[in-house]
Amino acid sequence: MRLCDHAGCIAGGDFRAPKSRLDLHDYYWFCLEHVRAYNSAWNYYAGMSGNEIEAEIRHDTVWQRPSWRLGDRHGPSYADRIRDHFGVFSGGLGNGRDGGRRSDERGRDSVRRALSAREQALAVFEIEPPFTPVRLKARYKQLVKLHHPDAHGGDKAAEEKLKIINQAYATLKASYFG
Ligand SMILES: [Zn+2]
Repeated sequence: MRLCDHAGCIAGGDFRAPKSRLDLHDYYWFCLEHVRAYNSAWNYYAGMSGNEIEAEIRHDTVWQRPSWRLGDRHGPSYADRIRDHFGVFSGGLGNGRDGGRRSDERGRDSVRRALSAREQALAVFEIEPPFTPVRLKARYKQLVKLHHPDAHGGDKAAEEKLKIINQAYATLKASYFG
């Protein structure tokens, strides 16, 4: 049996949480209590210098623009919902209501909204359980097609987004069908 990774805890490690934003495939395993604590304490910007945080926010801003455009194809709420739930990128308290007005101050002070890897993946896929492996795969293919860098002139931001989509797919497959 896997034990909780929290020091000194001997409960079962049934819940996984990514170790860092840079490696969402490498997990800690925690008991429910400690995965909750970990999620709520996880600061997306932890370990970054002020300059790095600013660069990340700028990157985020660049990244958001094409998704806003693309969102139009899915109806007006698509981009809003992506923005709302895409905690990996927004790094914070974003509720999607303030559009492009993401300020540096907000980024610096924001505490990352606590979402589990699975919740983030569900938000990326905009899919709600129950779903079948076939439906999940179809949605994956749809997203890849939509966000493939080749479709965006090899755009770096699209590349990053595709990575997130791939990670989300792996997370969902593992969570529901693993
Ligand atoms: Zn524990």
